[in-house]
Amino acid sequence: MGLKVYINGEYFDKKDAKISVFDHGLLYGDGVFEGIRSYNRLVFKLEEHIQRLYESAHGIMLDIAISRKDMIKAVIDTLNLNKLDDAYIRLIVTRGIGDLGLDPRKCKDAAIIIITDKIQLYPEKLYKEGLRLITVPTPRNIPEALNPQIKSLNYLNNILAKIEAINVGYEEALMFTASGYVAECTGDNIFIIKDGSLITPSSYLGILKGITRGVAMDIGKKIGLEVKEDVLTRHNLFTADECFLTGTAAEIVPVVSIEKRIIGNGKPGKITLALMREFKESTKRDGVKY
Ligand code: PMP
Repeated sequence: MGLKVYINGEYFDKKDAKISVFDHGLLYGDGVFEGIRSYNRLVFKLEEHIQRLYESAHGIMLDIAISRKDMIKAVIDTLNLNKLDDAYIRLIVTRGIGDLGLDPRKCKDAAIIIITDKIQLYPEKLYKEGLRLITVPTPRNIPEALNPQIKSLNYLNNILAKIEAINVGYEEALMFTASGYVAECTGDNIFIIKDGSLITPSSYLGILKGITRGVAMDIGKKIGLEVKEDVLTRHNLFTADECFLTGTAAEIVPVVSIEKRIIGNGKPGKITLALMREFKESTKRDGVKY
């Protein structure tokens, strides 16, 4: 049996899992999504992801026809059907089928899509040697226009930043706010460690409030670090003792240089490595069993 995809309560083979070209998710990026992981039959922080999905939907006045409880059940059922022990889950809610105009009132039913697939792990080298980051000219979307806290299907802002990094030979881009403060990477949050404090950009600056970001902050407190959300400049990054990124797919990735400035001693930092170990432990604990 091949991979089955959930669309509006039904399961389809991968090759038949299709939505309409009139869906406003495709026409306008009008919709919201989540990326979730499961580890050894435990969906990591599932409730938190579902909460953020419904908040994103609420932010764009998109009505999700099923309850959070039923959404959790649908995710679990899809994982069980596909017999996946370790998975990457993509949960998508689009505005649904409308006409070619913008008017969301023409879209009667939001479409719910759940794709569960094998997780594509990042190369081991990334975690051992650390990542080199480059800053890019495109600023993160300004929160007054389209708040990055809404995890919407329109990711062009992030894709443009990714292209800018790739164009100059880097894998990942660090984005700033329109005012020039540190925001986040294209699909990950950023942290620094300075004099024993764990510091990450405040969410009001206009970033996605990552679930993994929250986990890293909790672990930081647990291991006795002072944890702060603050406004950070490029200089704060250049002079940090350690730096790392967090995200569902990437987990915790050490950063060893930014714009060619070496961070710390150019190797993954001690505290970062401790956080990575604790993170691994929490993936064995903090989830919904299936
Ligand atoms: N920032 C952006 C822009 C993202 O798309 C993501 C998720 N891929 C993150 C941060 C990390 O969020 P999470 O830890 O919830 O995956």
